Amino acid sequence: MSGTANGREIGTFKNFIAGAWVPAASGRTFENRNPSNRDEVIGHFASSDSVDVAAAVGAAAEAYETWGKGSAIARANILHKAANILEGRIPEIGRELAWEEGKTLKEGIGETTRAVQILRYYAGEAQQPTGEHYPSMNPATLLYTVREPLGVCGIVTPWNFPIAIPAWKIAPALAFGNTVVFKPASATPLCAVRLVEALADAGLPAGVLNLVTGSAGAVGDPLVQDSRVVAISFTGSNEVGGELRKSAAARGAKLQLELGGKNPAIVLADADMNHALMHVINGAMMSTGQKCTATSRAIVDRHVADEFTEKLAARVSAIRVGDPLDPDSMMGPLIDDRAADRVAGEVEAARKSGVQLLFGGERLSGEDRERGAFVSPAVFANVDRNSRLAQEELFGPVLGVIPVDGLDEAIDVANKVRFGLSASIFTRDLATALTFAQRIETGIVHVNSETAGAEPHVPFGGYKGSSSYSREQGKAAREFFTQTKTVYIDLPPA
Ligand code: NAP
Repeated sequence: MSGTANGREIGTFKNFIAGAWVPAASGRTFENRNPSNRDEVIGHFASSDSVDVAAAVGAAAEAYETWGKGSAIARANILHKAANILEGRIPEIGRELAWEEGKTLKEGIGETTRAVQILRYYAGEAQQPTGEHYPSMNPATLLYTVREPLGVCGIVTPWNFPIAIPAWKIAPALAFGNTVVFKPASATPLCAVRLVEALADAGLPAGVLNLVTGSAGAVGDPLVQDSRVVAISFTGSNEVGGELRKSAAARGAKLQLELGGKNPAIVLADADMNHALMHVINGAMMSTGQKCTATSRAIVDRHVADEFTEKLAARVSAIRVGDPLDPDSMMGPLIDDRAADRVAGEVEAARKSGVQLLFGGERLSGEDRERGAFVSPAVFANVDRNSRLAQEELFGPVLGVIPVDGLDEAIDVANKVRFGLSASIFTRDLATALTFAQRIETGIVHVNSETAGAEPHVPFGGYKGSSSYSREQGKAAREFFTQTKTVYIDLPPA
């Protein structure tokens, strides 16, 4: 397929159904534009609908008959090969990712590298034991369990990690013998095409992985409602996750939801302030604050809150916002103008309500930024723990400092939100760190590092409203993408 991230070439991209790149049945396409420059079209993508979804699900159902019963070692070999292919394309795809999504080139390269690591990890996982052998009450009985695939899985992903999240859902789904219909976010279809190309080029049999691009209503809805799709793995907003919870439960599909966050970083009086500042700023502002694990609340001991806030505002105001393909840019645009207007509006509303805005939150122009979805990173001081700023996910480069009196209040503030994805604490005291790790209500806990760090070989997911209790990545993915069969074997009477 054509199209490279030099910012000038435009390609037309198709769906991948039953092993072939095909246009939408309707022949329609949609445009994808560069968030740094809305005049620049990245590509045209298949604008699919229920007809294409039905074809993709049909192909996945047919392919499951052989893929699901086939050799796990053969599956591992394909994932290994796909990892090697993708690895060879990292510079080019990392650049396309930055171009399409708006995170910096360094982050785009890093995320593509992460996708390679994930493919490789699940190639290894495919070769791990698939069950357990148990003693039986009858000593002559052979009693064991085996984990078997589910069938056709629907994978629905957001735009903010446009290659890593699809990789960490699709790789385990395939490794454990499922077939997949993949609906990527409409804002980042190019990265989805690149991931599928690597897997297709690695020799994945026809129908095992199908890509259908298009809108939530025209593609997402029919996919999650198709009775042949036995499991749905979704990452995205709480609003859409809530809808899927009802519709998937109603038809008995297995459902995995990875949703939003309102992640706190606690900075105690004994913390190394420079270290804490660096991690809080990186956690809040990298990827333009558009990470589910982004730090959006700095909960700071009152003894050091003024000094911390002053230094924080000074450093945040020095962040250079611009074209993510420019190596000097430290922060790129938001995903689109709507998101930029929304974030700027939230900052303005908070300011008008009396919250102390120290810096940022404005739509930026000048220095070639007037055509893009650029917003300056924002810092608020003395934020009320119950305010909208402290409770709701704004999904942008906005950080509120909440002063507290010591560890107990800090943990109480950290926990009193509906989310529970990730949290961090900065302290030199081991007992404090352990107390925090025990009492914090999040699925991911960091001590002296940013909320957004996550490694691919360990479970990932949130408490409370941030997930549906299931976990992704590492060995946890096997739980979702397989089901257990318990087998009793007795010899017939002699
Ligand atoms: P979103 O609007 O919920 O969309 C996510 C995906 O669902 C997109 O592919 C979207 O398609 C599709 N979709 C929307 N409505 C649907 C429906 N009714 N049926 C089926 N599919 C539907 O979320 P987003 O704006 O892309 O992502 C941002 C959110 O994701 C944030 O809340 C963030 O915290 C969360 N997130 C969570 C994690 C995690 O692991 N916990 C990781 C990353 C992001 P279209 O693109 O075509 O609309």
